[in-house]
Amino acid sequence: MSNLHNLLEKAYQTNNLAREEIIDLLENITHTDREVLYNYALKTKQDKYGNKVYLRGLIEFSNICRQDCLYCGIRASNAKVERYRLTPEKILACCDEGYKLGYRTFVLQSGEDLWYTEEIFVALLGEIKSRYPEVAITLSIGERRVETYQSLFAAGADRFLMRHETASKELYETLHPTMLFDNRRACLTALKGLGYQVGAGFMVGLPGQTFADLAEDLQYLKELRPDMIGIGPFIPHSETPLGAEKGGTIEDTLVMVALARLLIPDSLIPATTALGTLHPQGREMALKAGANVLMPIITPTFVRKQYELYQNKICVEDRPEDCRYCIERRIQSVGFEADMGRGDSLQFISQRTTESFGAS
Ligand code: SAM
Repeated sequence: MSNLHNLLEKAYQTNNLAREEIIDLLENITHTDREVLYNYALKTKQDKYGNKVYLRGLIEFSNICRQDCLYCGIRASNAKVERYRLTPEKILACCDEGYKLGYRTFVLQSGEDLWYTEEIFVALLGEIKSRYPEVAITLSIGERRVETYQSLFAAGADRFLMRHETASKELYETLHPTMLFDNRRACLTALKGLGYQVGAGFMVGLPGQTFADLAEDLQYLKELRPDMIGIGPFIPHSETPLGAEKGGTIEDTLVMVALARLLIPDSLIPATTALGTLHPQGREMALKAGANVLMPIITPTFVRKQYELYQNKICVEDRPEDCRYCIERRIQSVGFEADMGRGDSLQFISQRTTESFGAS
């Protein structure tokens, strides 16, 4: 057995690796080691969550953004984007359609668009929850004041996705000229403290990103213990300052997905659309490497193309019902089972159980 096989076995048995061990692994991993890693990650996922893959309906409700992230196709400085903003009524109509298709989690994602005030969100969340009390609502709307996060949680938001993007402060601040590393982290900590199920995560293959940075990403996630972890390859967009850079690879991204599963075994890990964009089977490969969530798009087809974070994004011509059944077939093709339930994280379920025992 090679040295790396020992490390991989250690990661599987203990759910722990030191920073130097992660770097060693990333530097020296071979094709055969990768297969061993994916198998350990898959076994861990099966032990924790079984054969199920949770489906979430993703509504990309606005591509208007006040931030200027160097990698992102909808950054404020990209004058070539045709901007759109769905009204709360239109978002509700998407939820109605999603509910009929069987979704019980809606992910509301957008650029940082302050047109949607706290009041607008509170009313929208209240209306979704009064129509569909059993659904889980996930917000992915970027940075706001802690008081706003608090009001939105009280109004019915259950989960919040906000990738930390990279754990390197220097790289973060180069890539995000309008944002602060410390503020991003403070938002994530605050969201967790307020009781949201929190999703963090990062991109793989960012220009200037090192193996040490990726090791740091995993260590930060271990510390934060998020409920969800989104990991995707960086894909260059020609209308951004990083348009001529090389993107992340499918192999490197799958390795990070599998390591995240081993080191934070209770987390929900999506097989991201960006992985499906890099390779026709990218999402299925991620499911076989420890991922257990898919987020089919239920954004209305007439605006889908405009939510172009990176080029050649898949599914932009499809309708919500096409995505729903295409994804289900993909899940079955690799031997898993689509689950349309809320799909809460194990961490959340165990906290809730402890609380209810405490109260009795
Ligand atoms: N504005 C919200 C936020 O900042 O959390 C949510 C929307 S943001 C566009 C969603 C995610 O898209 C980001 O967290 C980032 O990781 C990813 N993304 C943006 N541009 C990308 C690119 N060129 N390649 C891959 N992923 C990208």
